[in-house]
Amino acid sequence: MVKVVLEDINTVVYFTSTPEWAAETQAWSQTKCTDHDTFWCRRITSNGGVQIRQQCRICGHLLGGARKREPGDENLPLHDPDMETRYNELREQEHLQILKKHARLQHEKTSSWFDQYNDYLASDEWQQKRKLVFKRSGGMCEGCGLAEAKQVHHLTYKHVGCEFLFELVAVCDSCHDRLHQDEAPETGDERASSAEPDNPDYEEPL
Ligand SMILES: [Zn+2]
Ligand SMILES: [Zn+2]
Ligand SMILES: [Zn+2]
Repeated sequence: MVKVVLEDINTVVYFTSTPEWAAETQAWSQTKCTDHDTFWCRRITSNGGVQIRQQCRICGHLLGGARKREPGDENLPLHDPDMETRYNELREQEHLQILKKHARLQHEKTSSWFDQYNDYLASDEWQQKRKLVFKRSGGMCEGCGLAEAKQVHHLTYKHVGCEFLFELVAVCDSCHDRLHQDEAPETGDERASSAEPDNPDYEEPL
């Protein structure tokens, strides 16, 4: 996972690489300047001498060795030592923009999932389903069997909205905490990786 900061929406995304991102990055890497388009220029060396060298006008890279000086060389343009740095910085920016684009897509996908999930948790359908689960458990926690059940927990998110009752368990608060402690963010349930499975805001409120 790569940590990506989306400044404009003040969000940190833990991006997991996707085939779309890999394909776009691959295609972008092919666009690096390799067929250099060169011109001769005068390069001032560190001891103040002058070399006649070839510089790529696209990426700024210096190619080949110096050639013998010829009459008229004094009219050649000066070598631009910052051009290659600028090109490399630009490439880095492009690379980062691709990453951010795909991190944003991943984030949007995840947050819309949670929006729908939260809407569902506020619905009458969910209230009905919870009642059935509490009824099955006789009001007791199905984790410890000792305490009163307070929450209905999803064992899987596969059928959110049309769960089988055996996919839901009635639990007490401490069993519910334990269930969510076991969910390390990296070990996926079906939710995307940047989600916070143990954030109580996303859970089944009473
Ligand atoms: Zn080049
Ligand atoms: Zn319990
Ligand atoms: Zn839960």
